[in-house]
Amino acid sequence: MGENFAFFLPVMMASFGVAFGFVWSLRVRAASYWSGAYFCVAGGFAMLAGFALFPSPIWGFAADLLLASGFLLFSQALLERWRTSWLLRARIAIWALSIMLCAVAVVLGDLRLELVASSLGCFLLIGLPLIAGKDHLRNWSDCPLFAAAALVALDNLVRGSTVPLTLSNQGSFPTSHYAFLMQALACLFGLFLALSALAANMLDLLARYRREALHDPLSGLLNRRGFDEAIAQHARRKGVEGSLIVCDIDHFKAINDQFGHAFGDRVIVALAELFASSIPASAIIARFGGEEFVLFLPGTHAARAGAIANDIREAVSQAVGARLGLTRTLGLTRPLTASFGLSTVQRDEGSIHQAIARADEALYEAKMRGRNRVCVRRALCAPTPDVFSLVSNS
Ligand code: GH3
Ligand code: MG
Ligand code: MG
Repeated sequence: MGENFAFFLPVMMASFGVAFGFVWSLRVRAASYWSGAYFCVAGGFAMLAGFALFPSPIWGFAADLLLASGFLLFSQALLERWRTSWLLRARIAIWALSIMLCAVAVVLGDLRLELVASSLGCFLLIGLPLIAGKDHLRNWSDCPLFAAAALVALDNLVRGSTVPLTLSNQGSFPTSHYAFLMQALACLFGLFLALSALAANMLDLLARYRREALHDPLSGLLNRRGFDEAIAQHARRKGVEGSLIVCDIDHFKAINDQFGHAFGDRVIVALAELFASSIPASAIIARFGGEEFVLFLPGTHAARAGAIANDIREAVSQAVGARLGLTRTLGLTRPLTASFGLSTVQRDEGSIHQAIARADEALYEAKMRGRNRVCVRRALCAPTPDVFSLVSNS
């Protein structure tokens, strides 16, 4: 039975090393530690196979070294999710101590000491991250991973503390109960740990792709798709009643032309930060492309939304211009300004896109009237002349 495991285990563990290597190539950092850990453990079990073929204590020590290194990498992989590099020095010290004790045991020919040092070292290395992981169990994808790591830790603890029972004859390690238990449980729990870690890594990857698909990489705000999805989610729970603001930076092309595209990007980022810091927590904000932003204020009537838009308008020229040194350092001839179009969304309106179209019309009106102002077009009003300037400062 033991011989079957001897060849099967390294192949199984190395296959997981390859699988995690593939996940790593998709830019999942933790997968590099998982991959390294499974390759080390595969190497460790391959040494046991070597021991079965040509008994020599050096195989055992090489296995101890690889297993301890694998478990150090397991602990790093787990902590990448739960608390990066937590107690790194302590974990390296446990790794070093376990290896040193194994070396002493090999020199003394004391197989029991070697197995106790190796198992308890592995227990501590994979057990420590569980202390950090217990705070993350609200996240359901972490639960199977936590359970699998706990089982592996427990397996090592029990095996390490029952060596005298499971290793009756020091001379026949490969045929001992200890060796059989070690390989059978490593197979079972190693499989569970690998599958739960693969699932957690893949879920992280999907979450990252989803985040990237819904956000604008420059400003970090939602993009048009993200905005539509956030609005749809909000509408399902609370409806779409509220106000909608569209904002466009004035004469942005001139800023790009005068200071370069990279500086234009900084203006966009600064404006996005200003938006994020000055809107209510319930608001949904997106960059719709170029220098245009859209803001939905749920349950907010036009007068309140107009006041919010006007506050942002004033802050744009003061805060954003000053932060980037636009007016002073770069000698911009006029302050950085933005224009705003505002509309309300009625409870019975089928889609928010009609409100966006109305707010766009109001924005166009703000541009026509000289920029740096907020114009309003209320919902369900006559199509053309009902656009008026709320605030003007030009
Ligand atoms: P207006 O006051 O009428 O809005 O004039 P404007 O110059 O702001 O508008 P226009 O539509 O003529 O120019 C928009 C410019 O925004 C043109 C484009 O090069 C620039 N732009 C679009 N996306 C980005 C971006 O991501 N980064 C930078 N730096 N510029 C961008
Ligand atoms: Mg513009
Ligand atoms: Mg524009």
